[in-house]
Amino acid sequence: MSTKTIPAQTIKTCDCCSVTMDGQNSRQEGKLTLNAHALDMHGHACADATRKFDLCDSCLFDVAKAIDSAIAARKQGANHD
Ligand SMILES: [Zn+2]
Repeated sequence: MSTKTIPAQTIKTCDCCSVTMDGQNSRQEGKLTLNAHALDMHGHACADATRKFDLCDSCLFDVAKAIDSAIAARKQGANHD
C-alpha cells in the first residue's frame, strides 16, 4: 500500500463578481484595502472598520476607474452631498 499526499489548494474568488481567480483572469493579483477606524458617538476611534477586497483583472480595472471618477467628481465639486 502506498500513500499519496495531495497538497491543500487555496482557491480565491473575486469579491466583486465571484469568479474563481486563476492565472488567466487575475494576472495583476488585484487587492483593494480601505483602511478606516469606526467612530463612536463622540467621534473617537472604537473599532477597526477596514475593508479588504480581492479583485480579478476586469473588476480591478472597473473599481480603479470608479475610484478615479469619484475623486475627479469631488475635485470638481460636482458630487457634494
Ligand atoms: Zn471580478
